[in-house]
Amino acid sequence: MTAPKITKEELARRQAVVEACRWMNASGLNQGTSGNISIRDGERMLITPSGLPYDRMKAEDLVPMPLEGEYGAYEGELTPSSEWRFHLDILCAKPEVGAVVHTHSTYATTLAIAGREIPACHYMIAAAGGPTIRCAPYATYGTAELSANALAALEGRTCCLLANHGMIAIGPTLDKAMWLAVELETIARQYYLSLAIGQPNLLSDAEIGHVIEKFKSYGPRPRPEKAIA
Ligand code: 13P
Ligand code: ZN
Repeated sequence: MTAPKITKEELARRQAVVEACRWMNASGLNQGTSGNISIRDGERMLITPSGLPYDRMKAEDLVPMPLEGEYGAYEGELTPSSEWRFHLDILCAKPEVGAVVHTHSTYATTLAIAGREIPACHYMIAAAGGPTIRCAPYATYGTAELSANALAALEGRTCCLLANHGMIAIGPTLDKAMWLAVELETIARQYYLSLAIGQPNLLSDAEIGHVIEKFKSYGPRPRPEKAIA
């Protein structure tokens, strides 16, 4: 059976995933063949293949998996990432999500090894959608149990830690999911360092709720009509 032809547009979407994987390692956010990325592509997801070094990965190597129908079915010659279950389960459970980034970044993983959730130690935690970044209980990599634990930790949140493993960040686009992965690693590092020098002061749930509201209009925007001098 000959593989279905990949359109130019799909090839560009696949290439963006490969580049994100390479950037993730080059920036120090991840290392080796750890981590994996998926994107929603219509009725299916495109996910990185398992165990393939990112510098050798080609756009054609991404593995399509249908979001509906036979659970775990996939196309092509390469095996999908071991973590296809949590990628697929997240994309199915959260229609607003367009991309899932999983890394073993150092500080997020350090806190996950200690089984510590990240509290409201910095206002940027609002990017996670709430006042904490939860740590999903440990389960062996690639299992349905790990996926269930991750989904529970992601309830009302856009990222979580995975005990003794790493982290997951999700977003409407790949760029936003990767941005959040960087923010999560940054806040994990800041929290770790603040613990090292003493007792961190934490922000209230009400303040994080306030920042979540403010974030809705954050970003480059035209000067308001009545500019304040
Ligand atoms: P894959 O190479 O199978 O994607 O696995 C890496 C990983 O991070 C497993 O949790
Ligand atoms: Zn992993």
